[in-house]
Amino acid sequence: MKLQEYQAKELLEKFRVPVPAGSVATNGGEAREIAERLGGRVVVKAQVLMGGRGKAGGVKVFDDAEQASVFAADLIGKRLVSVQNPQGMVVEKVLVSERIEIEKEFYSAILLDRAAQRDTIMVSAKGGMDIEEVAASEPEAIVRLAVDSKWGLCDYEIRAALVAAKINPRAHRQMVPMIHALYSAYKESDATLLEINPCALTKDGKVVAADAKVIIDDNALFRHPDYAALGSESAEDPIEAEAVARGIAYVRLDGEIGVIGNGAGLVMLTLDEIAKTGKKAANFLDVGGGAQADRVRSCVELIFMDPRVKGLLINIFGGITRGDEVAKGVVEALQDLKVQVPVVVRVEGTNAEEARSILATANLTPAKTVQEAAEKIASLVGS
Ligand code: GDP
Ligand code: MN
Repeated sequence: MKLQEYQAKELLEKFRVPVPAGSVATNGGEAREIAERLGGRVVVKAQVLMGGRGKAGGVKVFDDAEQASVFAADLIGKRLVSVQNPQGMVVEKVLVSERIEIEKEFYSAILLDRAAQRDTIMVSAKGGMDIEEVAASEPEAIVRLAVDSKWGLCDYEIRAALVAAKINPRAHRQMVPMIHALYSAYKESDATLLEINPCALTKDGKVVAADAKVIIDDNALFRHPDYAALGSESAEDPIEAEAVARGIAYVRLDGEIGVIGNGAGLVMLTLDEIAKTGKKAANFLDVGGGAQADRVRSCVELIFMDPRVKGLLINIFGGITRGDEVAKGVVEALQDLKVQVPVVVRVEGTNAEEARSILATANLTPAKTVQEAAEKIASLVGS
């Protein structure tokens, strides 16, 4: 899960990494208030999860709050397109932060090097918006330091890396503790990437994280309910965002048949059977093992948030999951949502009989096999 820059900076502040003061705004008025509070000299930054934001026009410095708010108001709602992200992303929020006077831009990052099986610190004196080109044309300008998991990160190693990277010696005294702090933030938040670019040396000799990118390991989100709650902001599709918030695996596809199954394998099989009929699935939704009625209901709700859905196919194989629980959830959801489109259900396995009698009370089409279910929903949707 990627954090927005302002979220990443909030995380860094907790670990005492110096970051410029600032707040997030969702409209011009809010941007103006923040800019005034910061004394007018600010930088306005689009909060979008894409690379090349500065070059795409999403970052601009200002001398007064009025101009900053005009720019912010114009930026919010706009789609930013960059080389790294040609389809672009719509700006919903901007970060308004204290404008710093930058003398030098360094690069620093921490990532998990899977091949080396080590966390790796990277530093370069050639930070800024062209770091990708630096990495391609002069990789030696980026110095790597693998962290020994037994001994941890030592001051002398950091200093040696800063020297090797030819980072301005004026910055070393501040960068050593900063890199320790970054590494603590990285480890404590279960990040797989933490990147500060630029790590700025200001004209008055301070080192601050002027931009921050953090990716948290999705498999560790259960340890970080606060980030998991933010998670919806990191999705690009609003239904996906809602699914993330509900902890449900949902993938948007481009067809018209909603699909709910338990287990990724069963869902994929269902998609294949739908494809054989010539129709296409609208999504991939896995309720997971052991699903209870309320979770199933939550899945059905998600499916019908998508107006493209012309029919629903539910395919459950009860193992740990009890068929009757699934059936209860389905029936409740269909009643509450007053679903008008055809729904085909196939339930096998644990408590399948009970499930069928519950489903018989609702206006559904039962099916025995996956193939039969796919054919039924295809013809109901087609007609
Ligand atoms: P990115 O393009 O998404 O990486 O956005 P950044 O936050 O890194 O900003 C892009 C560039 O804008 C930086 O490399 C800086 O040169 C410049 N910039 C960002 N914040 C400030 C600031 O507070 N003051 C000044 N003078 N320049 C800034
Ligand atoms: Mn940057």
